[in-house]
Amino acid sequence: MLGTGILKGMVETAKNFAGSYVSDERLTTVQYPEERQKLAENTRQFPFLVFDGNDPLAGMRCVACQICEKECPPQCIYIEKSKDKKPDHLGKPQFYPARFDIDISVCMSCQICVEVCPFEAIKMDTEFELSTGDRFGGLLFNRDQLAKSNAHYNKIHPTEAAEIDAKRADEKIKAEAKAKADAEAKAKAAEAAKAAANTPKPAPAPQPPAKPAPPSAA
Ligand code: SF4
Ligand code: SF4
Repeated sequence: MLGTGILKGMVETAKNFAGSYVSDERLTTVQYPEERQKLAENTRQFPFLVFDGNDPLAGMRCVACQICEKECPPQCIYIEKSKDKKPDHLGKPQFYPARFDIDISVCMSCQICVEVCPFEAIKMDTEFELSTGDRFGGLLFNRDQLAKSNAHYNKIHPTEAAEIDAKRADEKIKAEAKAKADAEAKAKAAEAAKAAANTPKPAPAPQPPAKPAPPSAA
């Protein structure tokens, strides 16, 4: 019936209004900012850059591939790639962002940057108290402001972060096993080459005597 949804909503509101006088469970609002509601695990506000360990630059996962910069719909990410490289969590040399800015005043919290990042390097933060009186650059966050630890990521999105940690740990184990196998194969090949070089060469087989030349027709 037309309007059933509106009626149901009004009944729920009336229940909450009357019920809030006798039960806190019916209170749907809190006295912010003194009181705060617990944020849902999938709450998202603005992106941040994840780093592993305690050093934001050494542990930064971002390799400055610039995919997120290209895919961001309102184009509010600005990246400059480093000239040198640093090892990633697998020990592979990678570029890092010499500059990584996000204009939070333009960001629309769509999470596309997170979806397209192949390195689990950018995630959505839950921080929303970011208002500032500075209209010119107050919301242009740089790399150092955007960098937050993996511990922070685990705190705000525990389920998602735990899955990513497990995946990265698995990648590390595989990479270490491959490096070990490669090193063993290399050592074996070197040993085989050394053994071949030290083995005395067999004496050349005696040649059969040369056949006499046939007499010429003249
Ligand atoms: S959340 Fe969306 S708008 Fe914001 S930086 Fe990422 S891609 Fe751009
Ligand atoms: S955050 Fe991810 S997609 Fe963006 S530049 Fe860094 S590694 Fe590439």
